[in-house]
Amino acid sequence: MLDKRKFFIGGKWVDPISATDLDVINPATEEVIAVISMGSKDDANAAVAAANIAFPSFSQTTKAERIELLESIMTAYKARYDEMAEVISSEMGAPMTLSQNAQAKVGLGHLEGFIEALKSFDFESISANGDTILREPIGVCGLITPWNWPMNQMVLKIAPALATGCTLVLKPSELTPLSAMLYAEILSEAGVPDGVFNLVNGEGPVVGSALSCHPDIQMMSFTGSTRGGVAVTKDAADTVKRVALELGGKSPNIVFADVEDVQKSVSRGARSCFNNTGQSCNAPTRMLVEKSIYEDAMQIAAKTAEETAVGDPSKEGGHIGPLVSQLQYDKVQALIQKGIDEGATLLAGGIGKPEGRNVGYFCKPTIFGNATNEMTIAREEIFGPVLTMIPFEGEDEAIRIANDTPYGLAAYIETGDETRATRVAKTLKAGMVRINGTDLDWGSPFGGYKMSGLGREGGHFGLEDFLEIKAVTRP
Ligand code: NAD
Repeated sequence: MLDKRKFFIGGKWVDPISATDLDVINPATEEVIAVISMGSKDDANAAVAAANIAFPSFSQTTKAERIELLESIMTAYKARYDEMAEVISSEMGAPMTLSQNAQAKVGLGHLEGFIEALKSFDFESISANGDTILREPIGVCGLITPWNWPMNQMVLKIAPALATGCTLVLKPSELTPLSAMLYAEILSEAGVPDGVFNLVNGEGPVVGSALSCHPDIQMMSFTGSTRGGVAVTKDAADTVKRVALELGGKSPNIVFADVEDVQKSVSRGARSCFNNTGQSCNAPTRMLVEKSIYEDAMQIAAKTAEETAVGDPSKEGGHIGPLVSQLQYDKVQALIQKGIDEGATLLAGGIGKPEGRNVGYFCKPTIFGNATNEMTIAREEIFGPVLTMIPFEGEDEAIRIANDTPYGLAAYIETGDETRATRVAKTLKAGMVRINGTDLDWGSPFGGYKMSGLGREGGHFGLEDFLEIKAVTRP
């Protein structure tokens, strides 16, 4: 078991001022793999003070110096890439193949996207009326991240903060602190100056809230539940901080009858919903299917679920791993039960653990058919491998159901008609629309409409979030 009780403040690993211990649990074995400290308000204050001291000099670095710094982070990250993939797999249960090819890889991909965006970014420009427009680092930033894609969310915040000359305090999820602590070592090895990056572990309502309320922090960037994002926004209000939020989703995947290959479109949608054991904010969890192909689609999706293996995350392969925690397992089970109670048809999976998986928070890939958009399983984010299939008749109804949600993170369209794809994409209230299984590229803006968040992460737009704008005008 690893002793990971220290915090990274002012360029050093330091003992907490006051703290309690928390066990880090491997969700596949339920074994304790490390013990961390849960910090206090005093620890958060110490980290903010270090970031504040570092800001005047780091904010004056040149763009070229910061590009060089990001490139050296890239080199240091590559050297510890396998270790990162293993750490993520052990703390949150992503199977090794997914951890290597996606969970760890995003740490490089997003960094690459930011380096490219920074190279072409103008921190000084002349506006149409002759003003000089300066873009300046906003100041000390507080970053709060979740457990489901730990590196993804950390890099989407840390890299633009560094790229723009901000200093920061990170509070990672208490369920996945080990990847964050390894990243702290990587940043230090890469030469990030003392105090520019600081890390304090702890509970959201304690350390997270201390950061959100802190008068010396100018911006909070939060990824997590909508409940958490609202709490951060309220805490930040008294000091009028900028708040960037990446929250939940209940993303529609509209499958039109004109798709080239129904089998391919439906199974791709179900697999995408199950990816990372359904623990992705942008997962296509509501599959809306045109009535003429709905019966076929239900059969194809059920077969895809039955063929989705659930297995040991320490092994390579295309299987899915466990859910992250007992709490998450209980939540997913309760929502599956709700789907049954509200009258949706259980086509695959259901309550309980898959055969032979009594230890670990493993869950059955589950498909609900004959669902309506009013059911709880169509409205609430389940964050498990559970797909809800809803029939529709015609394009207008598809768009109405797709937009009938408090969320607006992603949307997916499957169609053989390009004109329709463009037309429907323009009507969807979502920050990202993916057509016929296409992935977003590094540097594409990531974020949502409505209760899915505020602001955009990644590339050029991700840099903008960390900058103040100053107009300088002369006679
Ligand atoms: P969560 O809100 O419980 O926790 C996220 C982080 O917020 C953790 O570090 C937690 O300690 C902290 N936190 C919790 N309450 C807080 C408070 N009152 N003040 C300050 N910080 C607080 O969410 P989670 O369960 O870790 O993550 C899952 C959620 O994250 C899902 O809803 C998912 O959709 C969302 N998510 C969104 C995106 C996105 O980009 N839109 C990406 C990944 C995850």
